[in-house]
Amino acid sequence: MTRKISPQPSCADPFDPDSISLATALVGIRQLAEPLGSSERLGLRDSLERISFRPIQSPMNVPASANSAMDGYAIAVDSLPASGVGEFSQIGTAYAGQPFTRVCGRGETVRIMTGALLPEGCDAVIMQEQVEVDEQGRVLIDSSHRSGENVRQAGEDVKNGETVLEAGVRISPADIGVLASLGIAEIDVAKRPRVAFFSTGDELVGIGETLAAGKIYDSNRYSLYGMLSRLPVEIIDLGVIPDQPEKIRAAILDAAEQADLILTTGGVSVGEADYIKSILKEIGETEFWKIAIKPGRPLTLGQVGKSIFMGLPGNPVAVMVTFSQFVVPAIQALCGMKPQQPMLFSARAMDKMRKRPGRHEFQRGIASRDEKGQWQVSKTGKQGSGILTSMSRANCFIVLDDQNAGVEIGDSVDIQFFDWSQGEL
Ligand code: AMP
Ligand code: MG
Repeated sequence: MTRKISPQPSCADPFDPDSISLATALVGIRQLAEPLGSSERLGLRDSLERISFRPIQSPMNVPASANSAMDGYAIAVDSLPASGVGEFSQIGTAYAGQPFTRVCGRGETVRIMTGALLPEGCDAVIMQEQVEVDEQGRVLIDSSHRSGENVRQAGEDVKNGETVLEAGVRISPADIGVLASLGIAEIDVAKRPRVAFFSTGDELVGIGETLAAGKIYDSNRYSLYGMLSRLPVEIIDLGVIPDQPEKIRAAILDAAEQADLILTTGGVSVGEADYIKSILKEIGETEFWKIAIKPGRPLTLGQVGKSIFMGLPGNPVAVMVTFSQFVVPAIQALCGMKPQQPMLFSARAMDKMRKRPGRHEFQRGIASRDEKGQWQVSKTGKQGSGILTSMSRANCFIVLDDQNAGVEIGDSVDIQFFDWSQGEL
């Protein structure tokens, strides 16, 4: 009698009926990760890259008063003739920061510099290149000009009372510039979520230790540190924990004491040393998800005490993919940010890509613009989930959705640039 093996579902299958879609997983993550709801007041410069906690209304008009957008001559347009050229006498000069304080009457003009207040009586600035000054010093201006020309009106940039920054926005260099233009020195930002993380695995050693046979250096803590340091979080690195249930248990409980979010890598699949699941069953509430993505199918999600727990896979590329797709939205939610749409671009594939329908795939790509200015993308080479150089050589993910059944050269594909600090981060 020949013995037969009946294989069980595994991560080698294109589709696993027990797995959930990327979109479903994201809905679940958002249900679990609620805004922490606490804030701190920071000086403007320190608020950069943090998340605004409440909307900010302008206490003033910007500009506060009408001023000149050009170097030229300020006049009242209705003192121009209907046709031909009008003559004006120059009665003074207005500089930025040094206004001309008298009224400018009909037939009169004030020499004016960019940024200077528009003198009373004037409603336009004529560029100096469009003006002639005759030998007697009279200023000659033709009839072609209109009211408001080259004038920055009061409140043109920001109106008094207008909302200049919504709540839940990542504060950009332009934002702190706008707030500075309103004289705002401090703002309330969301407190940084505390994120604790550790790696699990008996095979892991730290940099500086000797690499005995079968051991590998722990790289996940470094890529995680790198990705976290671009986010508005407090980072708590708890090191490497061996595959011993009591040590993992103690590390998770320790992390739950100090962190809002706990991240672990490794130990969440079906290997014999994969303890995280059983420990979490004991000390927290958890769900174990098989997500229909590649790489990064297994993900453990749950709660330990007040902390959210996310158990990422061990493979280094899977760690970075699951971080970008799931941890970033969780951190954004904890900070009170609104859900962000991933920013996808279309690019022409320069490589053939084998794929079967069933899973959302994140291949690593190098995108560039062709001579016509269109995006094109090639693969970085080998795409195994342990090949971390595929991430460091890439500048984007090539995102192939679950329906996709393979890509031919020249096909259009979606790409998602690596920008851990933006929208999808
Ligand atoms: P695991 O999910 O623990 O079975 O790990 C899957 C694969 O990822 C194994 O080949 C591990 O050796 C590798 N791996 C796990 N953790 C790390 C880490 N921190 N750094 C580098 N490789 C890791
Ligand atoms: Mg392991």
